Amino acid sequence: MKQLTLSTDLITSDILPVLSKAKTSPHTYLDTRVTKTHRDNKRTRSQTARERLRTKEHLATLAGELHEVELADKLRRCHSRLSVLTCGRHIERIIPNFTCEFRLCPDCGRRRSRKLQKKYLPMMRAFLRHRQVTPVHLVLTQTHRKETRKQSAKRINDAFKKLQRRSFWKEFFKGGTWSLEFTKDKNGLHHTHLHIIGFRRKFFDIELLRSEWLAVTGDSHVLNLKPIQDIAAGLREVVKYVSKPLDIRRFGAADLKEFIGLKNMRMFGTFGEFRDFCKSFVPSDNDGDEVSELESLSRDLTEGCACPKCAAPLFDLRLSSDELLRFYEGIESSPPGKVGTS
Ligand SMILES: [Zn+2]
Ligand SMILES: [Zn+2]
Repeated sequence: MKQLTLSTDLITSDILPVLSKAKTSPHTYLDTRVTKTHRDNKRTRSQTARERLRTKEHLATLAGELHEVELADKLRRCHSRLSVLTCGRHIERIIPNFTCEFRLCPDCGRRRSRKLQKKYLPMMRAFLRHRQVTPVHLVLTQTHRKETRKQSAKRINDAFKKLQRRSFWKEFFKGGTWSLEFTKDKNGLHHTHLHIIGFRRKFFDIELLRSEWLAVTGDSHVLNLKPIQDIAAGLREVVKYVSKPLDIRRFGAADLKEFIGLKNMRMFGTFGEFRDFCKSFVPSDNDGDEVSELESLSRDLTEGCACPKCAAPLFDLRLSSDELLRFYEGIESSPPGKVGTS
């Protein structure tokens, strides 16, 4: 109920000329979302796996409704057969038979977001070592209008480009990464947000940033800024939107159709000095260590090797996605130390 009022407030305040009532504090909206994320993190592997399966089935059904037969088939085949390297209790590696690479596929999204983390985390750490900057998570939002998802994304991207050209921005930020998040409200209006990891050179008054954002958008002042304590966690949070752009389970066929039309839209990128830094980045020995932190050691493991976690011998299992789900459940319900399903 509270949420409902909030989002209505947000819409009204954004549709009305905003200048006069810039303090209606719609940030609670963003804060609620942060809390929700923390809850999400506590779900078990079987729960998230089940959710991914359902999401995919939902997408495949919608694709069928749109007569996108090939897409429906690809989604159903993606990660449907898996080669799992396990000791029976720990899973060291999962290799899917097929990946669909569809933008909204939750399995492919996870892989994509892991790839992004692996690529950018060493660069971010190196950048933080070499520059006098503090990482912050900045969320920029815009007013909701009747427009397509594409128009909505273009509007916020254009505004952000303008913001970067302003002297305020240049004075306080040394670049960073951006990613797009799409949501939709009950009235069908798009809420497009930009999640930015910004490298801040020094403190500034948040109201200044608010007025700068208002100046480039003409009507939006809603933003949220928080310091990032742990850059790995900060990056993980931001790439999450690339892997899971919105609540797909509430998606209808029309939404899917729109997304299929967005084929070439970028959802993640770098900007400013950090962008140049990435282009010329050559990992040093130090940076190499950090790469391996994310790089799974399991790459070299094969059947018969000792499990790195419990030393029991590893073996290969061929499972369907449903069987993997039950395998997770087995591990979760058996007491520690005891080997589960095999
Ligand atoms: Zn996929
Ligand atoms: Zn083990």
